[in-house]
Amino acid sequence: MCSVNDEGAESFEELKPDEPLELKCRKCLTEDGNVILRKKDVYCKTCFIPMVTHKFRATLGKSKLVNKGERVLVCVSGSQSSVSLLHLVWTGLQQSTYKRLTFDPVIVYIDESILFKYPQNQQNKIQELFEKYGLSYHIVLFASVLYSNNCLIEDTNIDQHNNKLKNIFKNISDLTLKEDMLMKLRKHAITKLAKLLECTRIITAENEHKLSIRLLSNVALGRGSQIGLDIGLAVNDKTNSKKSLITIRPLRDLSAKEISYYALFNKLEDYVHSNFLTATNEDESIQKTTEQFINNLQVEFPSTVSTIFRTGEKISEKTSRTAYCSMCQGIMDIEMPPSSAMEATKYSKYVSLMGLKALELSLNNIDNKESDLKRCNGCYCKNNQNSKEELLKNLCYACRHIIQNLESLDDLPEEILKKNSEKLQFQKMEEQIKDFLL
Ligand SMILES: [Zn+2]
Ligand SMILES: [Zn+2]
Repeated sequence: MCSVNDEGAESFEELKPDEPLELKCRKCLTEDGNVILRKKDVYCKTCFIPMVTHKFRATLGKSKLVNKGERVLVCVSGSQSSVSLLHLVWTGLQQSTYKRLTFDPVIVYIDESILFKYPQNQQNKIQELFEKYGLSYHIVLFASVLYSNNCLIEDTNIDQHNNKLKNIFKNISDLTLKEDMLMKLRKHAITKLAKLLECTRIITAENEHKLSIRLLSNVALGRGSQIGLDIGLAVNDKTNSKKSLITIRPLRDLSAKEISYYALFNKLEDYVHSNFLTATNEDESIQKTTEQFINNLQVEFPSTVSTIFRTGEKISEKTSRTAYCSMCQGIMDIEMPPSSAMEATKYSKYVSLMGLKALELSLNNIDNKESDLKRCNGCYCKNNQNSKEELLKNLCYACRHIIQNLESLDDLPEEILKKNSEKLQFQKMEEQIKDFLL
């Protein structure tokens, strides 16, 4: 654990290697230990499981955001954390005392086998698992959720939708951006499912370790202002917390090791769950480099993850005027000085894309027809370029990087484009009436 000194700064607790390790459980003091956490805390199996359950319930209860009978979307990806989450929710519903969970869970599994190679019978296995728990569940295809409004019943254009999804990732060659885009599309799919299934709360299974990697990766990717949204409680509509869609992460206080032991003791089987970083080298993407950095530190200093996590929680965004990104819904910086990093990146991108000649032309403020023609090749026409630029205006720094790689906006889910055109209309209207406003 970390301690806070007088200045408010946190310091790592040093391990004392010479200290003899206590082999009895530190809680009941009678049983032999089965688990060692943080290299020194020994627990027996009987004390360990209630401790994990307690942490889960405490995090869920602390938020006080789930009401009795409320429909809650529980996202299960097949990973060890998510099968543990499912087990924790199910156990909570079985209790007969006042401790019983009172919300109405709806389990979802999004099948991403179109992007990654999963064992052929994986979907059946997941279905068997859900049947065993006897809770209401839905298994849906990733492309269906993104492009069809009928994804819960039947998607008649599934081949076309699958191609659209594959096209997006075919156009992005950079692994960092590919993974970032996958995260945003997953989030988009989950939000859409929650709305379709009339759920007002979403529960996801990220543990402390995963969230601390996400926190540092977010900073490196230029998503610093979105940390609160990605690791904390994410509230969509801050003015009305009863009606807005809220993402809750009840495993955020549990370490990856605690989850592994919980799954082991309860004999929970986990399933293949990949992303673009699976089996890649650490120097190929920002996310993987961050993961490796944290893992290496964690070996020597077991409080690394919790220190990063607790520090990150204190970060909050400070903006006077708020605008939200059309793609990730994150907060955007709209009042930027000309010398900001964002402006500098925009400038260097412009030079590298357009060449020196175009830059000279634009500096001389000459009508830039020639370069418009240059940009147009094949279906990459001027109209397309215009709508792309309009979309880019309403995107955050990190999302711009992704979208700039796309050849056509047609492969993006319709809702993102629709939201953007609504925003543009609103901005246009605001511009027209601004002189009449008091
Ligand atoms: Zn014990
Ligand atoms: Zn964004």
